[in-house]
Amino acid sequence: MSSLVSPWRQDFPALAAFDAEGQTYLDSAATAQKPRAMLDSLLGHLAGGAANVHRAQHLPGERATRAFEATRDQAAAWLNAASRDEIVFTRGATESLNLLAYGLEHLFQPGDRIVVSALEHHANLLPWQQLALRRGLELAVLPLDAAGTIDLGRAAGLIGPRTRLLAISQLSNVLGRWQPVRELAALARAQGALSVVDGAQGAVHGRHDIQALGCDFYVCSSHKLYGPDGVGLLHGRREALERLRHWQFGGEMVLQADYEESRFRAAPLGFEAGTPPISGVIALGATLAYLAGLDATAVARHEAALHAELLAGLAVRDGVRLLGEPQLALASLTVDGVHSADLAHLLTDQGIAVRTGHHCAMPLLKRLGLSGAIRVSLGLYNDGADLERFFAALDQALELLR
Ligand code: PMP
Repeated sequence: MSSLVSPWRQDFPALAAFDAEGQTYLDSAATAQKPRAMLDSLLGHLAGGAANVHRAQHLPGERATRAFEATRDQAAAWLNAASRDEIVFTRGATESLNLLAYGLEHLFQPGDRIVVSALEHHANLLPWQQLALRRGLELAVLPLDAAGTIDLGRAAGLIGPRTRLLAISQLSNVLGRWQPVRELAALARAQGALSVVDGAQGAVHGRHDIQALGCDFYVCSSHKLYGPDGVGLLHGRREALERLRHWQFGGEMVLQADYEESRFRAAPLGFEAGTPPISGVIALGATLAYLAGLDATAVARHEAALHAELLAGLAVRDGVRLLGEPQLALASLTVDGVHSADLAHLLTDQGIAVRTGHHCAMPLLKRLGLSGAIRVSLGLYNDGADLERFFAALDQALELLR
C-alpha cells in the first residue's frame, strides 16, 4: 500500500466526482482539474454581473476590468516578468505560438533559419513549419540524446548566423524531461536570434523566473495550470514585443481607425483584439492566488515522490518500456508485444483515464519508431491510491493481452 496522500486533493471537487464514478484521472498533462477557488471565482464573476472590459464606464464594467487587469499583475508576478505590460492574454498556448509565427513573419528573409527541436508538440512545430513554407526558410531540427534531452553540443552547431529564431519546449509532454532552455536561449541570443519557449508543461511544475530563463517569448496555457480553458499567456520581453506586428484586428486593439487606414495599440492590448475570455482570465487570477498560497516545496516533494512511485511500479513489470528517461510529471510507455491502443482500451474499461496515441508529437513518435504510446501524467492532487488502481488495472489488462 502506498502511503502517499495529497493534502490538496480535497481542494479539487472533480476528484471526489471521479472517485464517485470510479474514474482514476491520470491525464493532467492534457488538462488539469480545477481548485474550488477557481470555480468560486468563475461563478462569482458571472453570477455577480458580467460586463465587458476596457470599454464601459459603468460600475459592472469597471469591476470586470479591475479583476481582469489584476490577473495581469498576478501573472507578471508569477513569472517574475519585468513589467505587467509584458503579459498578453491569448486563448491558449497554441494561439500564443500562432500569434508569434504571424507577428514575427516580417523579420524573415528567404534562406533564414528557424530552429526547433525533435520533441516539439505540434503547437510549437506547425506554426514555424508553415511560416518556413510561406517565406522560403530552412527549418532545422535539434536532435535529442537517448534520455530525451536536446543535445546541447549538437545544438551549438545548428544555431548559426542564419538562425533568426529558436523555438523549444521547456518540459516535454511526451518525455517528461526538462530541456536546457537557458543554455539554448543564450546560444540563440549570441547569434542575434529570437528565442521562444513553449512552457505549456513546464509552467505547471514549479515557478519559473522568466528573466533568468533569458528567452524573448514564453507561452503557456491556463487549463494545464489548474485554471480555466480558453485562456493562454504570452510573455514577451519589452524589446521583443516591440518587434511584433499586429495579427488580429478589431475592437479595442486600435488607437485610431479610419476607412483607409488605422493605428494600433502597443502590447499588451494591441494583441488582445475583440472581447477577451474575461471570466476565464479573472478565474485564472483566482487559480494563481490559490497556487501561490501552497507550500511550493511540499508540492514539489509530493510530485517527485509520486513520480518515483510511478517509475518504480513500471520498472518491475515485464516488457514495459519507457520513452526516454522521464524526470517528473509523467511517463510515456509501450509494452512489448502489446498494441498501445488495445492496452488503452482495457485501461479505459477499468476506469483509468490515461492518454494514448501520438500525443501531438507525431514526428517524435515516428523518430522513436512508434505509432503510439500510453502516457500516465500526474497532478498535485493525485495520490498513491491512484497509482495502485492504475497498476492493478495494468496487470489485469496485460494478463488478458499476453
Ligand atoms: N505545447 C505543449 C508541450 C503541450 O503539451 C500542449 C498541450 N498538449 C501545447 C503546447 C498546446 O497547448 P494548448 O492545447 O493549451 O494550446
